[in-house]
Amino acid sequence: MGKVLVLNASYEPLNITSWRRAVVLLLKGKAEQLEHKGQIVYADFPLPTVIRLRYYVRVPYKEIPLTRRNILERDANTCQYCTAKGDQLTIDHVVPRSRGGGDTWENLVAACVRCNVKKGSRTPKEADMMLLTKPRRPYSSLHFELVKHTRGNSNQEWKKYAIGI
Ligand SMILES: [Zn+2]
Repeated sequence: MGKVLVLNASYEPLNITSWRRAVVLLLKGKAEQLEHKGQIVYADFPLPTVIRLRYYVRVPYKEIPLTRRNILERDANTCQYCTAKGDQLTIDHVVPRSRGGGDTWENLVAACVRCNVKKGSRTPKEADMMLLTKPRRPYSSLHFELVKHTRGNSNQEWKKYAIGI
């Protein structure tokens, strides 16, 4: 069964949890149910998809690690030059390493092998290969997770509560 979006008392997205944990929070009266799916967990207890805590939680900012997997995830496993999708993607340095380009969110993008080889040690402008989107650091790790969990048709009811996804 699915994941549940947990909102803070202020209605801001707080985290994503399992439906089991969400049910426990509801049963203990620590949260209220805002959205649910038709399925029933227990008698008269529909499966939650969005809940809201009855108390306010302070959350420290969590930095999202710069990893190959997270770069591919940010770019939706799509080559940022030709839109090819798949799991054969490589990581391209927009400004090549040999030209001083660093390992940063702004300089790393998903690229298919063909585009990566074609571009070689040139900048996108020199190679006349435009980027689909300007690479940037994800807003927050929660935003990153929200985008991931609402791709395709999943968890569409979450979108009401999250800005920018
Ligand atoms: Zn490509």
